[in-house]
Amino acid sequence: MARTVYLDGEYLPETEAKVSIFDRGFVMGDGVYEVTSVLGGKLLDFAAHMTRLTRSLNELQMTNPLTEAQYLDAHRKLVELNDIDEGMVYLQVTRGNPGDRDFAFPPDDTPATVVMFTQSKPGLADNPQAKIGIKVISIPDLRWHRRDIKTVQLLYPSLAKMEAKHRGVDDAWFVEDGLVTEGTSNNTYIVKGGKIITRALSNDILHGITRASLLRFAREAQLQIEERSFSIAEAQAADEAFFTSASAFVMPVVEVDGVKVGTGTPGPVATRLREIYLDESRKAAV
Ligand code: PMP
Repeated sequence: MARTVYLDGEYLPETEAKVSIFDRGFVMGDGVYEVTSVLGGKLLDFAAHMTRLTRSLNELQMTNPLTEAQYLDAHRKLVELNDIDEGMVYLQVTRGNPGDRDFAFPPDDTPATVVMFTQSKPGLADNPQAKIGIKVISIPDLRWHRRDIKTVQLLYPSLAKMEAKHRGVDDAWFVEDGLVTEGTSNNTYIVKGGKIITRALSNDILHGITRASLLRFAREAQLQIEERSFSIAEAQAADEAFFTSASAFVMPVVEVDGVKVGTGTPGPVATRLREIYLDESRKAAV
């Protein structure tokens, strides 16, 4: 069945939603996005995603074309129209269609292009992978240095995922100056002696919404947290490793560059944090 998608204020069958070939998102990668998870037909961490969207837009000197209430209304409508129980809503805002290709930004009154669509993922919360854990390889971080802006420029992460696939593992962790920055589409953590270690926020990584919620829940559960960078060797010698993202929640990592982490199975801290994250986020879902 064709999905109903959102394009610039209209709800259309996916086959009828068309964007110009001159759209800045298409020719320049000039756009930002958010992915919000849906569990039980409700949106997780929605307000935080909207705050980050506005921040990303501001960093690119764009004004947010819609209000939070309008985004919420559109998200809910798409969830309902497409009968999404578990899955995601993808939202993208680009600098719009200037009618030609030019490096200079178009005039300020050029309307942004706003696209939203759903992805149905039955079984998202009960993902069997979380019980097995995933394997990662390390790859040099060759992305630009404004990784805090959630732009649609995902070519390097996409190449890294393909490299991971070719090498028979699930994902890649980026390394810069000998230290892990983040995963291809997630924030990374290790656990040592009961302490959760994760890189501090800066322009080097995306300020994960799941990361923020997880650290809050971990603090509430009296778990110790250290925000600092770590190396691949330190991850390999850790008791546990895991990553977070809006669509995977908390995912145990059991092997890094061919070396087992801890027992090579999902550890108790990651497993507990996944449960806490899912419980608390479901309670706060809108
Ligand atoms: N880092 C990168 C590079 C990402 O693409 C993502 C997922 N969008 C994350 C971290 C995790 O962020 P969030 O928890 O907001 O999904």
